Amino acid sequence: MTSSSDQQASKKPGSIGSAHDTSTLSVHAGEARSKPSDAVTDAIVCSSTFTFDDSQSIIDFIEHKEPREEYGRYGNPNEKTVEGKLAALDAGEEAVVFSSGMAAIVGLLMAKLNAGDEIVFFDQCYHRSREFCFKHLSRFGVVTHQVPTGDFAAMEAAINDRTKMLVSESPTNPHLTCIDLEQFVALGKANEVETLIDATLATPYNIRPLDYAVDYVLHSATKYLGGHNDLLAGSITGSSEKLESVRNLRGIMGGVNSPHNLYLLQRGLKTFELRMERHNENGQAIAEFLSEHPRIEHVYYPGLESHPTHDVARQTMRGFGGLVTFLVRDADWRQTADIVDRVTIPRIGPSLGGVESLIEQPLLMSYYTQTPENRVKFGIPDNMIRMACGIENAQDLIDDLQQALES
Ligand SMILES: *Cc1c(COP(=O)(O)O)cnc(C)c1O
Repeated sequence: MTSSSDQQASKKPGSIGSAHDTSTLSVHAGEARSKPSDAVTDAIVCSSTFTFDDSQSIIDFIEHKEPREEYGRYGNPNEKTVEGKLAALDAGEEAVVFSSGMAAIVGLLMAKLNAGDEIVFFDQCYHRSREFCFKHLSRFGVVTHQVPTGDFAAMEAAINDRTKMLVSESPTNPHLTCIDLEQFVALGKANEVETLIDATLATPYNIRPLDYAVDYVLHSATKYLGGHNDLLAGSITGSSEKLESVRNLRGIMGGVNSPHNLYLLQRGLKTFELRMERHNENGQAIAEFLSEHPRIEHVYYPGLESHPTHDVARQTMRGFGGLVTFLVRDADWRQTADIVDRVTIPRIGPSLGGVESLIEQPLLMSYYTQTPENRVKFGIPDNMIRMACGIENAQDLIDDLQQALES
């Protein structure tokens, strides 16, 4: 049997020869080369706790920090493997995996912020991240300022000596605005404030914020990293030093994944690059089709030259992802809903990044209970549709949208 010390003796996660190719890392990084029973795949280690041979081994573990497992809330072998893969993909020192993307952002902010601290957040963002900051962090005395997305002057003006973190998505959900990461990091450094990029929509295939010296990268692994609409998970990547407190708090809050879930994520990651290539192609093809369709008023997609942050996207990204948001010309909410109801390939549902295309009207799916004033403020008009392109054939998806728009 492979003991934990055998695993330890195997190569460090990510250090597989000189290969830095995403696909090679997705397949091999983080994995021990020799596995129990000579299997090519990793075993799912279904154990909530881990045993010690004798009392002395406990003391050795505590004193020498001999790397081994202790109790499932603090980590398990499947988690180590996935964390190694995600760290390698982001070119980060370490990744901490959580039970969802939200658990990851909550875990990071709770670990890093104290009462009286402030954060500055660009205003286009996942609605639950906004809700967590305004409804819950505020209960612990942390103040959130939201400023217009990409407005660095406004962000700078909102910084004071209580500011502890600058937060943004890139691209943002659902408007796909891309952030100039050099400017973002420079603003953080100039003010000695840490920076967080939620790169869920881009993934490590399309963007690597740590290369720009962002402090923390967040992914909802539920989306492209898992990739099959069959699991929830999240991660934070960054330096080991900065992540130590995050990992410790996670061990207390308990937002961890089961070994089975981690194995699913590991399996999904094997095909990560192949899937991303297709998501990128499909997103671009659908965005181009929609931008020329007479019933479409506007398309938000960073790969279109018409997109306001197309230049930033081209500088920072390898591809532009599978999410396409668009507005239907002269349509009220019902006419917009009719289009969503007429498509036959994408399923109607929240989320993105899986092999199955999904489509939704943000008004109904995420903002139905908001006041009309807030929907205007958050930039969610009634005629907005968000399509998460899967890996189906692009022409099939286009034909389907065409019939939905024209019938
Ligand atoms: C989905 C999403 C999240 C939340 O992730 P979960 O895994 O659903 O908890 C956070 N940020 C962005 C940009 C997302 O799209």
